[in-house]
This record gives sequence, C-alpha cells and structure tokens, in this order.
Amino acid sequence: MIGAITIARVRGIPVKLDFSWVIIFVLVTSTVSSEIGSQIKDLNPAALLLLAVLGSLIFFFSLLLHEMSHAFVAQNDKIGVRSVTLFLFGGVAQLENEPESPGAEFRMAAVGPAVSIVLGVIFLGIWYYAVQMNLWLPIIILSNMLGVINIALGIFNLVPAFPLDGGRIFRAIVWAITKDLRKATSIAVGMGKFFAFVLVLWGLMLLLKQEWISGIWLIFIALFLYQAASSSLRMVTIQKALSGVRVADIMSSPPVTVSPDLTVAGLVYEYFLSHRIFAYPVVENWLPTGIVTTEDVKKIPRERWDAVTVRDIMQPVTPDMMVSSEDDMGDAFLKLNESDKTRLLVMYQGKLVGILSTSDVSRFVQIRDSLDRTGRGSGWAGGSGNFPARHVRQVPYEQKDQHPL
Ligand SMILES: [Zn+2]
Repeated sequence: MIGAITIARVRGIPVKLDFSWVIIFVLVTSTVSSEIGSQIKDLNPAALLLLAVLGSLIFFFSLLLHEMSHAFVAQNDKIGVRSVTLFLFGGVAQLENEPESPGAEFRMAAVGPAVSIVLGVIFLGIWYYAVQMNLWLPIIILSNMLGVINIALGIFNLVPAFPLDGGRIFRAIVWAITKDLRKATSIAVGMGKFFAFVLVLWGLMLLLKQEWISGIWLIFIALFLYQAASSSLRMVTIQKALSGVRVADIMSSPPVTVSPDLTVAGLVYEYFLSHRIFAYPVVENWLPTGIVTTEDVKKIPRERWDAVTVRDIMQPVTPDMMVSSEDDMGDAFLKLNESDKTRLLVMYQGKLVGILSTSDVSRFVQIRDSLDRTGRGSGWAGGSGNFPARHVRQVPYEQKDQHPL
C-alpha cells in the first residue's frame, strides 16, 4: 500500500482509504458505466457518470461492511484491530494479533462472506421488487449488478485458499483437528499458492483472448495472494518458534557499550571495525541514553570524524526502544516489527543487560524451526512449545566489567 487517509472511525477502528484504491474505483466505475450504457442507450453522459459513481460507491460500501464484520467479530474475541483499509485489491482488516483459537478464527473468517452473501440477497430482493413494480430502469440494473457482485464476492472469498476467508476457515478446521497451528497454516498456505497459480493460468488465458485488463488484473491478484500467503506462513513460523521464549533467551548479552563522548573516529576504529557489531548502546552514568549504528556514522563526512562525538549522531533512547529481559519474546518481536528500529535495548531491574536485534531473532527462529521440523520426539524440538528456562543469562550484566568507559 502506498499511503492511506483515515475517512472515519468506527468503534475505535480507523477506516482508511489507500491511495491505490483510486485505481480500482475508476475501474469499477467504468465497468458499471459501460454496463448501464449498454442497456440504456439514450441516457445523457452526465447522468450515466453519476449513476456509475453511485453504483461504484455502494459496491465499495458493501465491501467495507464485509471488512467491518471481520473487525467487529475480531474485537469480540479480544483480537485488536489496527485498521480497516480499502485498497487496490479490495479491502483488508489489519489485526494486531492472530486469533488464539480455531473457534475465534472460524467465527472471524466466516462472518465476512456471510455478510457479502446476505447483502447480495438483499440487493436481489430490491431488484425483484423493482422489476415487479416496473421502477426506473437504472434502479433495476444497479440492484441486479450489486446483488450479483456481492454474492460473487462472498463465494470467491469462500475458496479454501489462504489468505482468503475460505482459506482461514479451512485453516481453523485443520487447526482444530491437528491442534497444530503451524501445520494447519502450512497446508492452507499450500492451497493458497496453488490457487494463485491457477489464477495466473486463467489470467494468461484471458490475455490470449486479448482481454487485457481482466487478464492483467487476475495475474496481479494472484501475485498479491501468493505473497500474502507466504508472509502469513513466515509470521506463524516465527510466532511458533518464539512461543514460551523470553527476551533473555535470545538477546545478545552482555552488550558492548560506548560512551557518548567517544569521537566518531574512535567509534569506527575501536568498535565497528574491531568488534564487528553494527550497533552499540550508548551509556552514560550507568543509564542507556541512545543507540548508535553504522547508519548514523554514514551521515558524517569522514574529515569530521575526529570532531563529532557519539552524542551528536546517536538516536536518543525512547520508551519504545526498551524491553524487559523477562518479557515474552512474541511481544518483543511485535515491538521490534512495529517500530522502524532494528534493535531494542534489554533492561533488567533498571539496568541494561543486553541488546535484541532482528538478526538475533531471525537466526533463533531459523534454528528452532529446523529443529522442530526434523527432531521428532526429542524434547522441546518435538514442538511442544515449552522452552526450558535459561540459567546462564539470568545474572544482570554489570556495566563496569564490560566496557571501557
Ligand atoms: Zn473477508
């Protein structure tokens, strides 16, 4: 998504329009316009445009109702909803966390297609009434289109291909049976990728028939679905590998720290090049005051390295840069993911005890995931999710022993 504006707030959930939505709005409006135009020949262009825009707006409002229903059911199951956004490929309800049970996932996923199908039936009801009463022709055409498209939307979303709603329903069922979220996700994602492949073939077929827009459109949707399916599997793999793990188990400790009064030249030669670590906590009077990385150094011309100090270039510490060594690693990972930071400072009883980087996390996840998938019946590697309590790093790191301040 390119960038979005918030158009409303419903039950605390920001409803957003992504800029890319404009493209699909124009496409849908032109489709509606040509449909009405083909059935009513003598309509003046301004009236035709107005009707097409109206039909298109009602369609996107229906789509919004579909997404809002996901969001409301999620909220009822204590799943945080960050936003609901309309964008190029339709709508999306962004969740803060994944459902905690197959039941919650099933309810959340099933309500969307149900809402679309009910809306479709209502529009077809209006259409039937309008035909019986011989109402104005554009009402008949629009209600028919909206009925058909909402039902089609509901059915398309029921295809058991993750991350479509049907794929989530399918995952919930497999999850309930196997009690293994990762396995269920992996199967549902496999089907999602297969479906994406079928859509690509279909799109290519349309291209051969010279239906350019529909063909390209299908291929884009397929690529989007494929990418979304892969990233869901990655997230679930990470969540599983991090379950039961604390920050203390993964952090790099003790951290090598630097003084804010150190020059950039000193930082480069005595730290970056000799320790070969990309980022250092900056510590003054026993308290962390910032983080300095190779990126910060790059902004300073080489001839000024002796004049500029770490204090001038460091990123000052903010509360969102800190985690406790006792924190759950899953939560810390979300924190790491949400901020644009690649590292967090790890604190224990008011002292800096370590540093947690995205690369620490990804190495840990890779190793644990590979053990989980090959080590059958060998302790925690069997996948029970119980990580043994770690003893080695429990002792808070004493700064004075570790760095030459
Ligand atoms: Zn949906």
